[in-house]
Amino acid sequence: MRGIEAVIGLEVHAQLKTKTKMFCGCPNSFGQELNTFTCPVCLGLPGALPVLNAKAVELAVRLGLALNCRVHERSLFARKNYFYPDLPKGYQITQYDSPLCTGGYLDVEAGGETRRIGIRRIHLEEDAGRSLHDEACKRTRIDFNRSGVPLVEIVTEPDISSPEEASAFLKELRSILLHLRVSEGTMEEGTFRCDANVSVRMPGDSTLGVRTELKNMNSFKNVRRALAYEISRQASLLASSRPVVQETLLWSASARRTVPMRSKEESHDYRYFPEPDLPPLLVDRMLIDRVRASMPELPSERRRRFMRQYGLSDYDASQVIATPELADYFEECCSLVDAPTDIAHWITTELVRVMGESGDTPLTTRVRPSMLTALVSLVKAGRLSGLMAKEVLGRMSKTGEDPAAAMEDLGVEQMGDEDEIRAAVRGVIDAHPDEARRYREGKTQLAGFFVGEVMKVTSGRADPKLAIRIVREILDS
Ligand code: ADP
Ligand code: MG
Ligand code: ZN
Repeated sequence: MRGIEAVIGLEVHAQLKTKTKMFCGCPNSFGQELNTFTCPVCLGLPGALPVLNAKAVELAVRLGLALNCRVHERSLFARKNYFYPDLPKGYQITQYDSPLCTGGYLDVEAGGETRRIGIRRIHLEEDAGRSLHDEACKRTRIDFNRSGVPLVEIVTEPDISSPEEASAFLKELRSILLHLRVSEGTMEEGTFRCDANVSVRMPGDSTLGVRTELKNMNSFKNVRRALAYEISRQASLLASSRPVVQETLLWSASARRTVPMRSKEESHDYRYFPEPDLPPLLVDRMLIDRVRASMPELPSERRRRFMRQYGLSDYDASQVIATPELADYFEECCSLVDAPTDIAHWITTELVRVMGESGDTPLTTRVRPSMLTALVSLVKAGRLSGLMAKEVLGRMSKTGEDPAAAMEDLGVEQMGDEDEIRAAVRGVIDAHPDEARRYREGKTQLAGFFVGEVMKVTSGRADPKLAIRIVREILDS
């Protein structure tokens, strides 16, 4: 709605990539058989005592520094009390009024502009179990493998002003989590989850409007859709002078609308109090300095370096750094052959496609960097057309063969010498005397037509650049 301003603040939960859980030695791993990684601590049995996972603290410090936060040398754990079947202790251990990190920011690009989004806080907490609702038999099962998995919660300032900006923020944050190797960051699998607080106001208003909180958005697309829906819902309330009710809403992806879940809880509902079983969390300067010194390159830095060092466009560079593994793959290719732009294109289009088909990652695909660079070199040398090369790549991905072997199996001959192409060009010109005459009379755009015909008679094996040169050579003489 025109003339109404949206205000958005996000709360993001990301699971930390540790070997073990937050407060016990159970493996941090699920998707396996239900309830196999549990112990008295993460099942909440009375008397079991938590011991803090040092790696989780280190990962949270790494994230805090990357998001320009102040990392506090002393912070506190608290109990957040509520009842739910997947929370066996009846409380969640989290951080409340004294979190690990505060006061950071993240710069994101949205709509051609760079916006600075404030980070209010980052704190550590434990995940709850996972409820599995079985509609068919009207039962809910609970998997405690997730109970006690370490999380960071990242809370922004209400600095976001549109669904697109929210989505850009989440994508940049996810990319940072991946590049820092702090979290897997998969929204669909719930290792990266986001709640959004939304309000609207008239432009120029300095006070914030009443907000609602949106939950249950498990993809970037759903975040954008849910926010757009909720902003226009609130805008029409405002336009007709009806009040926005402060409440928690669920996004229904199937109905494409938000549905009320409960009236908004207040923090006093949770009866927070300091966790008596854990001492204050002390993070000394030395640890912070050590984490800072070993900080991996951030995605924004890596993108800029790729543009500088390899001459990639902004767009190509951001495609290549989609994941750190893809970026590493690209750099390995570049160390083998000097053709960064071609390599970037082959990786972000064809390699990504064949990996999608075989369900592989850059680490597991059978097309190793040396094999991809060999293929790209063949194309660049005009020994293989782009079209054929795609087919060859598909075969390489299935069999793990190098380009030469894959070409032999596919019966693809390299169109090696110029004479062969020259013969094909002559044949095509002889077969199309009219076009040849019109070309000679000045309609030189017909060169493209001849190249197309050459590609047809050579089943795509000719190098189009060489073919066009020969077409011109013959017709211009
Ligand atoms: P709670 O603890 O109830 O979730 P907080 O006050 O800590 O609430 O805020 C949580 C999130 O809501 C933050 O990201 C904050 O920026 C955002 N937020 C707070 N007030 C508003 C508002 N009026 N409109 C939009 N977002 C808001
Ligand atoms: Mg909240
Ligand atoms: Zn355990």
